[in-house]
Amino acid sequence: MADSYDCIVIGSGPGGYVAAIRAAQLGMKTAVVEKDKVGGRCLNYACIPAKAVLRTADILQEVRDAGDFGVKVAEPEIDYDAVMERRAKVVKTLTGGVSGLFKKNTIEVIEGEGGLTGDGKVRVGETEYEASKAVILATGSVPRGIPGAPLGGRIIGTEEAWALDEMPRSLAVVGAGASGTEIASAYVRLGADVILLEMLDRVLPSEDADISKVAERGFKKQGMKVVTGTPVENVEAGDASVTFSYGGEKGEADWLVICTGRGPDVEALGLDEAGVERLENGLIKVDGALRTSRERVYAIGDLVPGPALAHKASDEGIIAVEDAAGEQTHPIEYADIPRATFCTPNVGSFGLTEEQAREAGHDVVVGKVQYGAVGAGTVYGDRTGLIKIIGDKKYGEMIGGHIVGTRATELIQELVNAKALEGGYPEIARIVHGHPTLSEAVMEAARAADGWLIHG
Ligand SMILES: Cc1cc2nc3c(=O)[nH]c(=O)nc-3n(C[C@H](O)[C@H](O)[C@H](O)COP(=O)(O)OP(=O)(O)OC[C@H]3O[C@@H](n4cnc5c(N)ncnc54)[C@H](O)[C@@H]3O)c2cc1C
Repeated sequence: MADSYDCIVIGSGPGGYVAAIRAAQLGMKTAVVEKDKVGGRCLNYACIPAKAVLRTADILQEVRDAGDFGVKVAEPEIDYDAVMERRAKVVKTLTGGVSGLFKKNTIEVIEGEGGLTGDGKVRVGETEYEASKAVILATGSVPRGIPGAPLGGRIIGTEEAWALDEMPRSLAVVGAGASGTEIASAYVRLGADVILLEMLDRVLPSEDADISKVAERGFKKQGMKVVTGTPVENVEAGDASVTFSYGGEKGEADWLVICTGRGPDVEALGLDEAGVERLENGLIKVDGALRTSRERVYAIGDLVPGPALAHKASDEGIIAVEDAAGEQTHPIEYADIPRATFCTPNVGSFGLTEEQAREAGHDVVVGKVQYGAVGAGTVYGDRTGLIKIIGDKKYGEMIGGHIVGTRATELIQELVNAKALEGGYPEIARIVHGHPTLSEAVMEAARAADGWLIHG
Protein backbone atom coordinates (compact mmCIF):
# COMPACT_ATOMS: atom_id res chain seq x y z
CA MET A 1 0.00 0.00 0.00
CA ALA A 2 1.49 3.35 -1.05
CA ASP A 3 0.72 6.87 0.16
CA SER A 4 -2.74 8.02 0.99
CA TYR A 5 -4.16 11.46 0.18
CA ASP A 6 -7.24 13.53 0.90
CA CYS A 7 -7.81 14.12 -2.81
CA ILE A 8 -6.58 12.34 -5.91
CA VAL A 9 -7.27 13.85 -9.31
CA ILE A 10 -6.95 11.65 -12.40
CA GLY A 11 -5.99 13.82 -15.38
CA SER A 12 -4.18 17.17 -15.35
CA GLY A 13 -6.09 19.18 -18.00
CA PRO A 14 -7.88 22.47 -17.20
CA GLY A 15 -10.41 20.48 -15.17
CA GLY A 16 -7.93 18.37 -13.23
CA TYR A 17 -5.14 20.85 -12.57
CA VAL A 18 -7.51 23.57 -11.36
CA ALA A 19 -9.34 21.05 -9.13
CA ALA A 20 -6.01 19.96 -7.64
CA ILE A 21 -4.89 23.52 -6.87
CA ARG A 22 -8.24 24.41 -5.28
CA ALA A 23 -8.14 21.18 -3.23
CA ALA A 24 -4.67 22.07 -1.97
CA GLN A 25 -5.84 25.63 -1.15
CA LEU A 26 -8.59 24.06 0.96
CA GLY A 27 -5.99 22.15 2.95
CA MET A 28 -6.27 18.75 1.27
CA LYS A 29 -3.21 16.61 0.70
CA THR A 30 -3.50 16.24 -3.06
CA ALA A 31 -2.02 14.16 -5.88
CA VAL A 32 -2.60 14.28 -9.63
CA VAL A 33 -2.27 11.19 -11.81
CA GLU A 34 -1.26 11.92 -15.42
CA LYS A 35 -0.47 9.39 -18.13
CA ASP A 36 0.90 11.89 -20.65
CA LYS A 37 1.84 15.55 -20.11
CA VAL A 38 0.89 17.97 -17.36
CA GLY A 39 -1.64 20.52 -18.63
CA GLY A 40 -3.82 17.95 -20.38
CA ARG A 41 -4.91 17.99 -23.97
CA CYS A 42 -6.06 21.62 -23.71
CA LEU A 43 -2.59 23.03 -23.08
CA ASN A 44 -0.54 20.47 -24.99
CA TYR A 45 -2.54 19.60 -28.10
CA ALA A 46 -5.81 21.51 -28.36
CA CYS A 47 -6.89 24.99 -27.18
CA ILE A 48 -3.45 26.52 -26.70
CA PRO A 49 -1.54 25.25 -29.76
CA ALA A 50 -4.61 26.09 -31.85
CA LYS A 51 -4.69 29.65 -30.60
CA ALA A 52 -0.94 30.05 -31.07
CA VAL A 53 -1.21 29.13 -34.78
CA LEU A 54 -4.39 31.20 -35.21
CA ARG A 55 -2.53 34.20 -33.79
CA THR A 56 0.03 33.84 -36.59
CA ALA A 57 -2.76 33.71 -39.18
CA ASP A 58 -4.32 36.84 -37.64
CA ILE A 59 -1.03 38.73 -37.76
CA LEU A 60 -0.48 37.66 -41.37
CA GLN A 61 -3.94 38.94 -42.25
CA GLU A 62 -3.27 42.27 -40.55
CA VAL A 63 -0.03 42.66 -42.49
CA ARG A 64 -1.85 41.86 -45.74
CA ASP A 65 -4.50 44.45 -44.90
CA ALA A 66 -1.92 47.03 -43.83
CA GLY A 67 -2.23 48.92 -47.13
CA ASP A 68 -5.82 49.85 -46.21
CA PHE A 69 -4.38 51.71 -43.24
CA GLY A 70 -1.66 53.49 -45.18
CA VAL A 71 1.17 51.12 -44.33
CA LYS A 72 3.16 49.83 -47.29
CA VAL A 73 4.61 46.35 -46.80
CA ALA A 74 6.02 43.73 -49.15
CA GLU A 75 3.96 40.53 -49.56
CA PRO A 76 4.59 38.72 -46.23
CA GLU A 77 5.96 35.17 -46.16
CA ILE A 78 5.30 32.38 -43.71
CA ASP A 79 8.25 30.64 -42.06
CA TYR A 80 6.28 27.56 -41.05
CA ASP A 81 9.10 26.06 -38.94
CA ALA A 82 9.21 29.27 -36.92
CA VAL A 83 5.42 29.17 -36.49
CA MET A 84 5.69 25.64 -35.09
CA GLU A 85 8.62 26.64 -32.89
CA ARG A 86 6.62 29.50 -31.39
CA ARG A 87 3.66 27.17 -30.91
CA ALA A 88 5.89 24.76 -28.97
CA LYS A 89 7.32 27.62 -26.91
CA VAL A 90 3.86 28.88 -25.95
CA VAL A 91 2.85 25.37 -24.88
CA LYS A 92 6.07 24.91 -22.89
CA THR A 93 5.64 28.23 -21.08
CA LEU A 94 2.07 27.44 -20.07
CA THR A 95 2.59 23.79 -19.08
CA GLY A 96 5.70 24.84 -17.15
CA GLY A 97 3.45 27.31 -15.34
CA VAL A 98 1.10 24.50 -14.29
CA SER A 99 4.02 22.38 -13.02
CA GLY A 100 5.20 25.40 -11.05
CA LEU A 101 1.77 25.82 -9.48
CA PHE A 102 1.75 22.14 -8.51
CA LYS A 103 5.08 22.60 -6.72
CA LYS A 104 3.96 25.81 -5.05
CA ASN A 105 0.84 24.08 -3.72
CA THR A 106 2.72 20.87 -2.74
CA ILE A 107 0.72 18.76 -5.16
CA GLU A 108 2.34 15.46 -6.05
CA VAL A 109 2.29 14.27 -9.66
CA ILE A 110 1.99 10.50 -10.09
CA GLU A 111 3.01 9.49 -13.60
CA GLY A 112 0.98 6.70 -15.16
CA GLU A 113 -2.49 5.61 -16.15
CA GLY A 114 -4.97 5.81 -13.28
CA GLY A 115 -8.20 3.93 -12.72
CA LEU A 116 -10.58 3.07 -9.89
CA THR A 117 -10.58 -0.20 -8.01
CA GLY A 118 -13.80 -1.91 -6.92
CA ASP A 119 -13.39 -0.50 -3.41
CA GLY A 120 -12.96 3.09 -4.63
CA LYS A 121 -9.17 3.38 -4.43
CA VAL A 122 -7.01 4.65 -7.29
CA ARG A 123 -4.76 2.19 -9.07
CA VAL A 124 -1.74 3.29 -11.07
CA GLY A 125 0.15 0.32 -12.48
CA GLU A 126 0.66 -2.09 -9.58
CA THR A 127 0.21 0.56 -6.89
CA GLU A 128 -2.99 1.47 -5.10
CA TYR A 129 -3.59 4.86 -3.50
CA GLU A 130 -6.32 5.86 -1.08
CA ALA A 131 -8.18 9.20 -1.16
CA SER A 132 -10.06 9.91 2.07
CA LYS A 133 -12.19 12.80 0.75
CA ALA A 134 -12.40 12.72 -3.04
CA VAL A 135 -11.30 11.12 -6.26
CA ILE A 136 -11.83 13.53 -9.14
CA LEU A 137 -12.10 11.93 -12.58
CA ALA A 138 -10.83 14.46 -15.14
CA THR A 139 -9.54 12.39 -18.06
CA GLY A 140 -11.12 14.48 -20.81
CA SER A 141 -12.06 13.26 -24.26
CA VAL A 142 -10.74 11.54 -27.37
CA PRO A 143 -11.67 12.12 -31.02
CA ARG A 144 -14.39 10.10 -32.68
CA GLY A 145 -13.96 9.19 -36.32
CA ILE A 146 -16.78 9.10 -38.86
CA PRO A 147 -18.06 5.98 -40.59
CA GLY A 148 -15.99 5.21 -43.67
CA ALA A 149 -13.09 7.46 -42.62
CA PRO A 150 -11.18 5.89 -39.72
CA LEU A 151 -8.51 8.09 -38.17
CA GLY A 152 -4.96 7.20 -39.22
CA GLY A 153 -2.44 8.06 -41.95
CA ARG A 154 -3.69 10.98 -44.03
CA ILE A 155 -6.99 11.10 -42.12
CA ILE A 156 -6.30 13.08 -38.98
CA GLY A 157 -8.06 14.63 -36.00
CA THR A 158 -7.94 18.19 -34.76
CA GLU A 159 -4.94 17.77 -32.48
CA GLU A 160 -2.78 16.47 -35.36
CA ALA A 161 -4.00 19.28 -37.60
CA TRP A 162 -2.45 21.87 -35.28
CA ALA A 163 0.88 20.04 -35.22
CA LEU A 164 1.64 19.28 -38.88
CA ASP A 165 5.39 19.02 -39.53
CA GLU A 166 5.12 20.79 -42.86
CA MET A 167 2.86 23.52 -44.13
CA PRO A 168 0.09 21.62 -45.96
CA ARG A 169 -0.66 22.53 -49.56
CA SER A 170 -4.29 21.55 -49.11
CA LEU A 171 -6.72 20.51 -46.38
CA ALA A 172 -10.23 19.12 -46.45
CA VAL A 173 -11.88 19.90 -43.14
CA VAL A 174 -14.93 17.80 -42.25
CA GLY A 175 -17.27 19.48 -39.77
CA ALA A 176 -17.81 23.24 -39.53
CA GLY A 177 -18.20 23.53 -35.76
CA ALA A 178 -15.76 25.41 -33.53
CA SER A 179 -12.70 23.25 -34.19
CA GLY A 180 -13.34 22.82 -37.92
CA THR A 181 -13.79 26.52 -38.59
CA GLU A 182 -10.70 27.39 -36.53
CA ILE A 183 -8.52 24.95 -38.48
CA ALA A 184 -9.96 25.97 -41.84
CA SER A 185 -9.67 29.71 -41.21
CA ALA A 186 -6.10 29.41 -39.90
CA TYR A 187 -4.68 27.30 -42.73
CA VAL A 188 -6.45 29.12 -45.54
CA ARG A 189 -4.91 32.40 -44.40
CA LEU A 190 -1.51 30.73 -44.00
CA GLY A 191 -1.74 29.84 -47.69
CA ALA A 192 -3.25 26.35 -48.00
CA ASP A 193 -6.12 25.41 -50.32
CA VAL A 194 -8.94 24.66 -47.90
CA ILE A 195 -12.33 23.12 -48.39
CA LEU A 196 -14.68 23.13 -45.38
CA LEU A 197 -17.40 20.48 -45.58
CA GLU A 198 -20.47 20.46 -43.34
CA MET A 199 -23.33 17.99 -43.47
CA LEU A 200 -25.84 20.40 -41.87
CA ASP A 201 -27.14 23.38 -43.79
CA ARG A 202 -24.76 26.05 -42.46
CA VAL A 203 -21.36 26.63 -40.88
CA LEU A 204 -21.25 26.85 -37.07
CA PRO A 205 -24.63 25.07 -36.96
CA SER A 206 -25.05 25.42 -33.20
CA GLU A 207 -24.70 29.23 -33.36
CA ASP A 208 -27.48 31.69 -34.18
CA ALA A 209 -28.31 31.61 -37.93
CA ASP A 210 -27.41 35.31 -38.41
CA ILE A 211 -23.96 34.65 -36.95
CA SER A 212 -23.37 31.71 -39.29
CA LYS A 213 -24.13 33.94 -42.30
CA VAL A 214 -21.56 36.58 -41.36
CA ALA A 215 -18.98 33.91 -40.51
CA GLU A 216 -19.47 32.09 -43.83
CA ARG A 217 -19.08 35.34 -45.77
CA GLY A 218 -15.82 35.98 -43.90
CA PHE A 219 -14.49 32.48 -44.63
CA LYS A 220 -15.24 32.80 -48.34
CA LYS A 221 -13.50 36.16 -48.45
CA GLN A 222 -10.38 34.42 -47.15
CA GLY A 223 -10.51 32.10 -50.18
CA MET A 224 -11.99 29.08 -48.43
CA LYS A 225 -14.35 26.78 -50.33
CA VAL A 226 -17.36 26.19 -48.10
CA VAL A 227 -19.77 23.34 -48.83
CA THR A 228 -22.78 22.80 -46.57
CA GLY A 229 -25.71 20.39 -46.54
CA THR A 230 -23.60 17.58 -47.99
CA PRO A 231 -21.99 14.51 -46.42
CA VAL A 232 -18.46 13.47 -47.29
CA GLU A 233 -18.34 10.05 -48.91
CA ASN A 234 -16.03 7.55 -50.60
CA VAL A 235 -13.01 8.58 -48.56
CA GLU A 236 -9.83 6.88 -49.72
CA ALA A 237 -6.52 7.61 -48.08
CA GLY A 238 -3.30 7.11 -50.04
CA ASP A 239 0.33 7.71 -49.02
CA ALA A 240 0.45 11.33 -50.13
CA SER A 241 -3.18 12.47 -50.25
CA VAL A 242 -6.82 11.62 -49.56
CA THR A 243 -9.60 11.51 -52.13
CA PHE A 244 -13.28 11.89 -51.32
CA SER A 245 -16.57 12.92 -52.81
CA TYR A 246 -19.30 15.33 -51.74
CA GLY A 247 -22.61 16.07 -53.45
CA GLY A 248 -21.57 14.53 -56.78
CA GLU A 249 -18.17 16.27 -56.85
CA LYS A 250 -14.75 14.77 -56.22
CA GLY A 251 -12.06 16.23 -54.02
CA GLU A 252 -8.44 15.58 -53.10
CA ALA A 253 -6.33 17.04 -50.29
CA ASP A 254 -3.02 16.45 -48.50
CA TRP A 255 -4.95 15.79 -45.30
CA LEU A 256 -8.57 15.09 -44.40
CA VAL A 257 -9.23 16.56 -40.96
CA ILE A 258 -12.12 15.06 -39.02
CA CYS A 259 -13.70 17.67 -36.72
CA THR A 260 -17.00 15.99 -35.97
CA GLY A 261 -16.83 15.52 -32.24
CA ARG A 262 -15.25 13.75 -29.33
CA GLY A 263 -16.22 11.16 -26.74
CA PRO A 264 -15.22 10.74 -23.06
CA ASP A 265 -11.86 9.08 -22.32
CA VAL A 266 -13.10 6.45 -19.86
CA GLU A 267 -11.46 3.25 -21.06
CA ALA A 268 -8.88 2.91 -18.29
CA LEU A 269 -11.04 4.25 -15.46
CA GLY A 270 -12.66 0.99 -14.31
CA LEU A 271 -16.04 2.69 -14.02
CA ASP A 272 -18.16 -0.48 -14.06
CA GLU A 273 -15.98 -2.20 -11.45
CA ALA A 274 -16.26 0.86 -9.19
CA GLY A 275 -20.00 1.28 -9.75
CA VAL A 276 -19.81 4.67 -11.48
CA GLU A 277 -22.90 5.05 -13.66
CA ARG A 278 -22.87 6.44 -17.19
CA LEU A 279 -25.58 8.03 -19.30
CA GLU A 280 -26.79 6.56 -22.56
CA ASN A 281 -24.42 8.80 -24.52
CA GLY A 282 -21.46 7.40 -22.57
CA LEU A 283 -20.84 10.49 -20.42
CA ILE A 284 -20.59 10.02 -16.66
CA LYS A 285 -23.77 10.76 -14.70
CA VAL A 286 -23.27 13.52 -12.11
CA ASP A 287 -25.38 15.81 -9.94
CA GLY A 288 -25.04 19.62 -9.60
CA ALA A 289 -21.96 19.21 -7.39
CA LEU A 290 -20.35 16.82 -9.92
CA ARG A 291 -20.83 13.79 -7.62
CA THR A 292 -21.04 10.48 -9.45
CA SER A 293 -23.15 7.53 -8.29
CA ARG A 294 -20.13 6.29 -6.29
CA GLU A 295 -19.52 7.91 -2.93
CA ARG A 296 -16.54 10.32 -2.83
CA VAL A 297 -15.97 9.97 -6.61
CA TYR A 298 -16.54 13.09 -8.74
CA ALA A 299 -16.30 13.57 -12.51
CA ILE A 300 -15.70 16.83 -14.39
CA GLY A 301 -14.90 18.39 -17.76
CA ASP A 302 -15.32 16.53 -21.03
CA LEU A 303 -16.34 13.40 -19.09
CA VAL A 304 -19.70 14.88 -18.09
CA PRO A 305 -22.62 16.64 -19.86
CA GLY A 306 -22.47 20.32 -20.83
CA PRO A 307 -20.37 22.15 -23.41
CA ALA A 308 -16.92 20.58 -23.88
CA LEU A 309 -14.93 23.68 -22.99
CA ALA A 310 -11.84 24.26 -20.89
CA HIS A 311 -13.35 26.98 -18.66
CA LYS A 312 -16.37 24.76 -17.96
CA ALA A 313 -14.00 21.94 -16.91
CA SER A 314 -12.10 24.29 -14.57
CA ASP A 315 -15.24 25.60 -12.92
CA GLU A 316 -16.55 22.10 -12.38
CA GLY A 317 -13.22 21.14 -10.79
CA ILE A 318 -13.58 23.96 -8.29
CA ILE A 319 -17.17 23.02 -7.45
CA ALA A 320 -16.30 19.34 -7.01
CA VAL A 321 -13.45 19.86 -4.56
CA GLU A 322 -15.30 22.55 -2.64
CA ASP A 323 -18.15 20.09 -2.19
CA ALA A 324 -15.69 17.39 -1.09
CA ALA A 325 -14.28 19.84 1.47
CA GLY A 326 -17.77 20.42 2.85
CA GLU A 327 -18.03 23.99 1.49
CA GLN A 328 -21.26 25.49 0.22
CA THR A 329 -21.07 25.52 -3.61
CA HIS A 330 -23.32 26.84 -6.36
CA PRO A 331 -24.28 24.74 -9.39
CA ILE A 332 -23.21 26.12 -12.76
CA GLU A 333 -25.75 27.82 -15.06
CA TYR A 334 -24.70 25.79 -18.07
CA ALA A 335 -26.63 27.89 -20.59
CA ASP A 336 -24.71 30.98 -19.50
CA ILE A 337 -21.23 29.58 -20.06
CA PRO A 338 -19.57 31.69 -22.75
CA ARG A 339 -18.72 29.87 -25.98
CA ALA A 340 -15.76 31.15 -27.92
CA THR A 341 -14.64 30.24 -31.44
CA PHE A 342 -11.38 31.81 -32.55
CA CYS A 343 -11.83 31.54 -36.29
CA THR A 344 -11.82 34.81 -38.22
CA PRO A 345 -14.28 36.37 -37.93
CA ASN A 346 -14.30 35.60 -34.19
CA VAL A 347 -17.49 34.22 -32.65
CA GLY A 348 -18.63 34.54 -29.03
CA SER A 349 -22.00 33.53 -27.65
CA PHE A 350 -23.99 32.34 -24.68
CA GLY A 351 -27.54 31.12 -24.02
CA LEU A 352 -30.23 30.52 -26.61
CA THR A 353 -30.28 31.37 -30.29
CA GLU A 354 -33.25 33.36 -31.61
CA GLU A 355 -34.77 30.16 -33.00
CA GLN A 356 -34.32 28.27 -29.71
CA ALA A 357 -35.77 31.18 -27.71
CA ARG A 358 -38.90 31.26 -29.90
CA GLU A 359 -39.28 27.48 -29.68
CA ALA A 360 -38.99 27.71 -25.88
CA GLY A 361 -41.98 30.09 -25.87
CA HIS A 362 -40.20 33.27 -24.74
CA ASP A 363 -41.70 36.66 -25.53
CA VAL A 364 -38.69 37.32 -27.72
CA VAL A 365 -37.13 40.68 -28.43
CA VAL A 366 -34.03 40.98 -30.65
CA GLY A 367 -31.48 43.77 -30.50
CA LYS A 368 -29.18 43.64 -33.51
CA VAL A 369 -26.41 46.07 -34.40
CA GLN A 370 -23.46 45.95 -36.80
CA TYR A 371 -20.05 47.12 -35.61
CA GLY A 372 -20.32 49.83 -38.26
CA ALA A 373 -23.00 51.53 -36.14
CA VAL A 374 -20.32 52.79 -33.75
CA GLY A 375 -17.14 54.74 -34.40
CA ALA A 376 -14.76 51.94 -33.40
CA GLY A 377 -16.05 49.62 -36.14
CA THR A 378 -14.89 52.05 -38.81
CA VAL A 379 -11.72 53.13 -36.99
CA TYR A 380 -10.51 49.55 -36.53
CA GLY A 381 -11.66 48.35 -39.94
CA ASP A 382 -14.52 45.97 -39.13
CA ARG A 383 -17.93 47.37 -40.01
CA THR A 384 -19.57 44.01 -40.73
CA GLY A 385 -19.22 42.47 -37.27
CA LEU A 386 -22.59 41.85 -35.63
CA ILE A 387 -23.95 41.90 -32.09
CA LYS A 388 -27.27 40.19 -31.48
CA ILE A 389 -28.97 40.14 -28.10
CA ILE A 390 -31.96 37.88 -27.55
CA GLY A 391 -34.15 39.08 -24.71
CA ASP A 392 -37.44 38.25 -23.07
CA LYS A 393 -39.67 41.34 -22.95
CA LYS A 394 -41.36 40.48 -19.66
CA TYR A 395 -38.49 41.41 -17.31
CA GLY A 396 -35.86 42.59 -19.80
CA GLU A 397 -33.91 39.36 -19.26
CA MET A 398 -31.09 38.41 -21.64
CA ILE A 399 -31.57 34.83 -22.74
CA GLY A 400 -28.92 34.78 -25.42
CA GLY A 401 -26.03 36.84 -26.72
CA HIS A 402 -24.29 36.35 -30.07
CA ILE A 403 -21.36 38.24 -31.50
CA VAL A 404 -19.38 37.72 -34.70
CA GLY A 405 -16.46 39.95 -35.68
CA THR A 406 -13.25 41.41 -34.28
CA ARG A 407 -12.71 40.43 -30.61
CA ALA A 408 -16.13 38.80 -30.29
CA THR A 409 -14.59 36.25 -27.93
CA GLU A 410 -13.70 39.07 -25.52
CA LEU A 411 -16.83 41.19 -26.05
CA ILE A 412 -19.25 38.38 -25.17
CA GLN A 413 -18.02 38.35 -21.58
CA GLU A 414 -19.75 41.69 -20.83
CA LEU A 415 -23.15 40.16 -21.53
CA VAL A 416 -22.32 37.03 -19.54
CA ASN A 417 -21.16 39.12 -16.57
CA ALA A 418 -24.21 41.36 -16.63
CA LYS A 419 -26.48 38.33 -16.72
CA ALA A 420 -24.60 36.65 -13.84
CA LEU A 421 -25.15 39.83 -11.80
CA GLU A 422 -28.86 39.67 -12.70
CA GLY A 423 -28.69 42.54 -15.18
CA GLY A 424 -30.83 42.58 -18.31
CA TYR A 425 -30.59 44.40 -21.63
CA PRO A 426 -32.17 47.60 -20.22
CA GLU A 427 -29.26 47.80 -17.75
CA ILE A 428 -26.58 47.23 -20.42
CA ALA A 429 -28.28 49.97 -22.47
CA ARG A 430 -27.76 52.44 -19.61
CA ILE A 431 -24.17 51.58 -18.62
CA VAL A 432 -21.72 54.19 -19.88
CA HIS A 433 -19.25 52.59 -22.33
CA GLY A 434 -15.90 54.08 -23.33
CA HIS A 435 -15.51 55.72 -26.73
CA PRO A 436 -14.44 54.71 -29.32
CA THR A 437 -14.63 51.01 -28.40
CA LEU A 438 -16.34 48.03 -29.98
CA SER A 439 -18.08 47.55 -26.62
CA GLU A 440 -20.25 50.54 -27.58
CA ALA A 441 -21.83 48.26 -30.18
CA VAL A 442 -22.80 45.88 -27.36
CA MET A 443 -24.49 48.80 -25.59
CA GLU A 444 -26.23 49.83 -28.82
CA ALA A 445 -27.53 46.27 -29.37
CA ALA A 446 -28.99 46.40 -25.85
CA ARG A 447 -30.59 49.75 -26.70
CA ALA A 448 -31.98 48.22 -29.90
CA ALA A 449 -33.56 45.44 -27.80
CA ASP A 450 -34.94 48.10 -25.45
CA GLY A 451 -36.43 50.02 -28.40
CA TRP A 452 -34.26 53.13 -28.54
CA LEU A 453 -31.20 52.48 -30.70
CA ILE A 454 -29.32 55.76 -31.12
CA HIS A 455 -27.03 54.94 -34.09
CA GLY A 456 -29.50 53.05 -36.24
C1 LIG B 1 -8.43 21.28 -31.20
C2 LIG B 1 -9.21 21.70 -29.99
C3 LIG B 1 -9.28 23.03 -29.67
C4 LIG B 1 -10.00 23.45 -28.55
N1 LIG B 1 -10.05 24.77 -28.24
C5 LIG B 1 -10.72 25.17 -27.15
C6 LIG B 1 -10.76 26.55 -26.79
O1 LIG B 1 -10.22 27.41 -27.47
N2 LIG B 1 -11.42 26.90 -25.67
C7 LIG B 1 -12.04 25.98 -24.89
O2 LIG B 1 -12.62 26.35 -23.87
N3 LIG B 1 -12.03 24.66 -25.20
C8 LIG B 1 -11.39 24.24 -26.31
N4 LIG B 1 -11.35 22.90 -26.62
C9 LIG B 1 -11.99 21.95 -25.71
C10 LIG B 1 -11.05 21.67 -24.51
O3 LIG B 1 -9.80 21.24 -25.00
C11 LIG B 1 -11.62 20.63 -23.57
O4 LIG B 1 -12.94 20.96 -23.23
C12 LIG B 1 -10.76 20.55 -22.32
O5 LIG B 1 -9.46 20.17 -22.64
C13 LIG B 1 -11.36 19.57 -21.32
O6 LIG B 1 -10.55 19.56 -20.19
P1 LIG B 1 -10.41 18.28 -19.28
O7 LIG B 1 -9.64 18.72 -18.08
O8 LIG B 1 -11.73 17.64 -19.10
O9 LIG B 1 -9.53 17.23 -20.13
P2 LIG B 1 -8.22 17.24 -21.02
O10 LIG B 1 -7.70 18.57 -21.34
O11 LIG B 1 -8.54 16.31 -22.14
O12 LIG B 1 -7.15 16.54 -20.10
C14 LIG B 1 -7.31 15.22 -19.66
C15 LIG B 1 -5.97 14.67 -19.22
O13 LIG B 1 -6.20 13.38 -18.63
C16 LIG B 1 -5.16 12.50 -19.00
N5 LIG B 1 -5.66 11.14 -18.86
C17 LIG B 1 -6.62 10.52 -19.59
N6 LIG B 1 -6.86 9.29 -19.08
C18 LIG B 1 -6.03 9.13 -18.04
C19 LIG B 1 -5.82 8.09 -17.10
N7 LIG B 1 -6.56 6.98 -17.14
N8 LIG B 1 -4.85 8.25 -16.16
C20 LIG B 1 -4.12 9.40 -16.12
N9 LIG B 1 -4.29 10.42 -16.96
C21 LIG B 1 -5.24 10.30 -17.90
C22 LIG B 1 -4.86 12.91 -20.44
O14 LIG B 1 -3.55 12.49 -20.80
C23 LIG B 1 -4.99 14.42 -20.36
O15 LIG B 1 -3.74 14.99 -20.03
C24 LIG B 1 -10.65 22.48 -27.75
C25 LIG B 1 -10.59 21.12 -28.08
C26 LIG B 1 -9.89 20.72 -29.19
C27 LIG B 1 -9.82 19.26 -29.53
